[in-house]
Amino acid sequence: MIAVEERVQDKAEALDAQLRGASPQEILKAAIEAFPGKIALVSSFGAESAVLLHMAAGIDPDIPVLFLETGMLFGQTLDYRKSLTAQLGLTNVQDLRPDPVALSTMDPKNRLWQTSTDACCAIRKVQPLDEALLGYEAWITGRKRFQSSTRANLRVVEVNEAGQIKINPLANWSKAELDAYAAEHALPAHPLVAQGYPSIGCWPCTKPVEEGEDARSGRWSGSEKIECGIHVSHIP
Ligand code: SF4
Repeated sequence: MIAVEERVQDKAEALDAQLRGASPQEILKAAIEAFPGKIALVSSFGAESAVLLHMAAGIDPDIPVLFLETGMLFGQTLDYRKSLTAQLGLTNVQDLRPDPVALSTMDPKNRLWQTSTDACCAIRKVQPLDEALLGYEAWITGRKRFQSSTRANLRVVEVNEAGQIKINPLANWSKAELDAYAAEHALPAHPLVAQGYPSIGCWPCTKPVEEGEDARSGRWSGSEKIECGIHVSHIP
């Protein structure tokens, strides 16, 4: 087991050294080639998701795209997930839903977020994603360094606690670069961006933010929580 973990660490370090200065498109292409049939892209279909999804569709429109359908998303997100998928020609977007038994046991009235956001995220996000990712060696995320102080040191390639490699093709990009790419390719924005939401999750835990604040400061606003738990990782 230790030998397997060391091999994963070695592969992640080699990929990171190879790709840390590459463009997002080069990173995506190299990642898809490095893990043929064993890599998925995880997308929230949120405020900036269109850029990475557009790049991925241009390289491999059949790549598995995993979408956490928590049951607590804004209706605008569900509509956007459908229309953007069709526009980009993505053929394999999969909705990951919470286990109905876990939901009926732990959150029968959909109010768990009021008493424990960690437990709510665990059954609605972490567990469904953990289960889905068992079939993959690596996954691609849309995280960027500029999003928050907690992501300021994000690597292009890292390893999570389950020993899976995570690729962050947009880690190096600025907000201006994302906006320029979206404008160049006429990508539709999530409808809530215009209403002051630069980061969009479940409706009970997402608020609009003021100009100049961290893009993610509207997530779990007023609490210590800053991540849902799917991005717990350690640096190789
Ligand atoms: S973001 Fe909020 S509503 Fe969504 S799973 Fe986490 S705690 Fe529950």
